[in-house]
Amino acid sequence: MSNYCKKILILGGTAEATALYDRVQTMANIEAIASFAGRTQQPVTPKDPAAFRIGGFGGVQGLIDYLKQQKIDILIDVTHPFAAQISDHAAIAANECGIKRLMVVRPAWEKVPGDNWVEVDSHSQATMVLSGLAERVFLTIGRQELSAYAELKDIWFLMRMIDPPQPNLPIPRGELLLQRGPFSVIDELSILREYQLGAIVSKNSGGDATYAKIVAARELKLPVVMVQRPPIPMGETVADIESAIAWLHQQ
Ligand code: NAP
Repeated sequence: MSNYCKKILILGGTAEATALYDRVQTMANIEAIASFAGRTQQPVTPKDPAAFRIGGFGGVQGLIDYLKQQKIDILIDVTHPFAAQISDHAAIAANECGIKRLMVVRPAWEKVPGDNWVEVDSHSQATMVLSGLAERVFLTIGRQELSAYAELKDIWFLMRMIDPPQPNLPIPRGELLLQRGPFSVIDELSILREYQLGAIVSKNSGGDATYAKIVAARELKLPVVMVQRPPIPMGETVADIESAIAWLHQQ
């Protein structure tokens, strides 16, 4: 790498993004800034307050303006697999600015023997398959799409999320459980048993932090309504932080 210092924008909101930021900090000739949407009240950010920004860019044009103003050379999209809008914006903006872009996409979970998954493409499809599947359901999709399930009056939901839902939005019948992962199989088994839950709704987020519920469901022979991922934009993609670092060394 030459003496020229490359400026990198890391789009975050995941544990991997913060881990990548920490690794990149140790690399010579690289200046990095991490960006967070600001959805959670206490995001896990880099320790140095000068190293990150919080809040939307103001749409794709806002992101283009930011990339130009900050003279960003490389954009690394380490957002959550379900954060489709920001990934689309990143693809358009990087293309418009003529800068390199890498997506770090953790692999989706794969079904293994013993899993009883009902795979659906959307939350609205999930609501359609839930009726008749169980009367008490563990809803582990976060808080943003909760209202899609509010119409299901015959089902009682245990709804797990980091921060409480927005006021004024309809929420399903049931109870809130405010918790941040990672979760252990022992804890997940005890939640499923204690609340007598008969099914789980999950996004196929991938990764280790929230996989314990899938193991617990397998052990208890419970169905999992698994919402599949939205498509990602075309472009260079790696599966983990190590591969992202290797890609960066090549730039
Ligand atoms: P989204 O639908 O793809 O994005 C909505 C808007 O939020 C974007 O248009 C952008 O606003 C802003 N935004 C998203 N990520 C941003 C970032 N890293 N930095 C600055 N602005 C960002 O995303 P989402 O599903 O609401 O998720 C929001 C954030 O939470 C993401 O960063 C994601 O990594 C994280 N997250 C999401 C999930 C999930 O299940 N969706 C789970 C865990 C973590 P502007 O248009 O104003 O720029």
